[in-house]
Amino acid sequence: MNTHINNDINTDKKADLNTTIFGKILRGEIPCQKIYEDDELFAFHDIHPIAEVHFLIIPKKFIPTLADVTADDSALLGKMLSLAPLLAKQQGLIDGFRTAINTGKLGGQDVYHLHIHVFGNRPGANALRAMGALTS
Ligand code: AMP
Repeated sequence: MNTHINNDINTDKKADLNTTIFGKILRGEIPCQKIYEDDELFAFHDIHPIAEVHFLIIPKKFIPTLADVTADDSALLGKMLSLAPLLAKQQGLIDGFRTAINTGKLGGQDVYHLHIHVFGNRPGANALRAMGALTS
């Protein structure tokens, strides 16, 4: 069985923590709408939301892409994933949400600091409007 993991995703846009926009956010050099922080993780609202709620969970450790993680990062990745439903609930996504990790050039990644997108719409006024229960 071929157990080789292809880690050769083209990361032309790779940068170090000093230059990515998320590094600047972590250092407080540019503002963000923070929703969570602990010693290893940071979460904030996406500046261009694609849903009513859209936030990003990032590790404070600089890892450019999901293709760069090692076995040493397993606990950190688990922590990132298990934080997603907690924050989603806090943000009102009580009926479900979507997650995405864009990886590398062909994976649509723009910011080369690992991040999980969490996004979705809150149940409530919009759902009621769609059912015709609200007129304005
Ligand atoms: P990706 O394409 O997966 O690398 O996603 C990067 C995400 O970062 C995009 O959804 C951007 O809207 C978001 N983003 C870029 N700059 C900022 C910023 N200053 N604050 C919050 N989100 C940002």
